[in-house]
Amino acid sequence: MTFGGDLQRIQAVPTATNLRSNRMSRIRQIRVPAPSGSYTVSVGPDLLGQLGQLLPESLRGRKMALITNDTVGALYGKKVVEALGRIGPVRPISIPDGERYKSMPTATRLYADLIRDGLDRSGVVVALGGGVIGDLAGFVAATYLRGVRFVQIPTTLLAQVDASIGGKVAVNLREGKNLVGAFHQPVAVVADTRVLSTLPPRQLGAGMMEVVKYALLGDLHLWDYLKTHAKHRLDLDVVVEASVRDKARIVAADEREAGHRRVLNLGHTLGHALETVTGYRRYLHGEAVGIGIVFANLVAHRMRRQSNEHLAEVVDLLRLIGLEISLP
Ligand code: NAD
Ligand code: MG
Repeated sequence: MTFGGDLQRIQAVPTATNLRSNRMSRIRQIRVPAPSGSYTVSVGPDLLGQLGQLLPESLRGRKMALITNDTVGALYGKKVVEALGRIGPVRPISIPDGERYKSMPTATRLYADLIRDGLDRSGVVVALGGGVIGDLAGFVAATYLRGVRFVQIPTTLLAQVDASIGGKVAVNLREGKNLVGAFHQPVAVVADTRVLSTLPPRQLGAGMMEVVKYALLGDLHLWDYLKTHAKHRLDLDVVVEASVRDKARIVAADEREAGHRRVLNLGHTLGHALETVTGYRRYLHGEAVGIGIVFANLVAHRMRRQSNEHLAEVVDLLRLIGLEISLP
């Protein structure tokens, strides 16, 4: 399939250079009122060192298992262990980096580690990493001893704006992605926007596609902000806060995806198909979703539900942010 004319090839613009976390900004806190348990998402720069103050008082003194991967652990593990150590005993556990470790065999290995460390029902599982670690550690937290407390410290843009909020946790099977999982809400989420400075630009761009998704789902303020600032400089604190508010609002109204939460799948129909037919090797998830968003907008346009101007605006914004489309 091909897109016509201008849509044929949307070239990547490196985003890392014009995405910044603002050193002076305040801590933004968003309450997620989930029926099965409410929690606070803290967003801002340099929050890792302040974990002791940001996590709920009820965690004080509890034994914590910090699950991370070798990449993120090398960058931020020490800092997080130190900060968590001020509120209770911490045991770091690292797994190799990669989506293929979001699996039952890794979960089984983690259960054994937790048992060996004597983590009981009063313990806490803390996830430090991107969506892979968040989903996997969350799945372990949901199932170990029939469920223990869970904290998310998301370190990718995608995890900060999407995966860490809403309580969906899962592992992949050989037969497909996310086939075994649960709804298990965290007791707290801490999104330190400063850690995004070490994220590869491609990962940052992929996360931005989910941000554009929230704008298109009706966050006109975010839409205007992106349109005005994408060319020059986007403040990641603003972008992450707005996205978290949007996702929080949607999941709070529909915790188990019985209805409205499905709007979050905008761009995901074609996106998932592209990921599948390319064996999950060619596109990052967000990149496939970006293409899916263009496709959904094209369909709306063909059905005369969307104007030429709006279609062009969407494509322009995605291009500015760094979407590249060239389909076989
Ligand atoms: P990821 O977790 O694989 O992280 C991407 C890469 O960035 C990895 O190599 C990771 O080690 C590295 N990384 C992470 N933080 C870094 C940092 N601060 N600096 C440098 N490198 C860093 O990928 P992702 O895109 O974050 O997450 C994808 C996963 O999330 C998928 O498994 C998907 O199914 C899941 N997901 C879940 C939900 C949900 O609601 N639960 C929603 C969306 C996606
Ligand atoms: Mg997605």
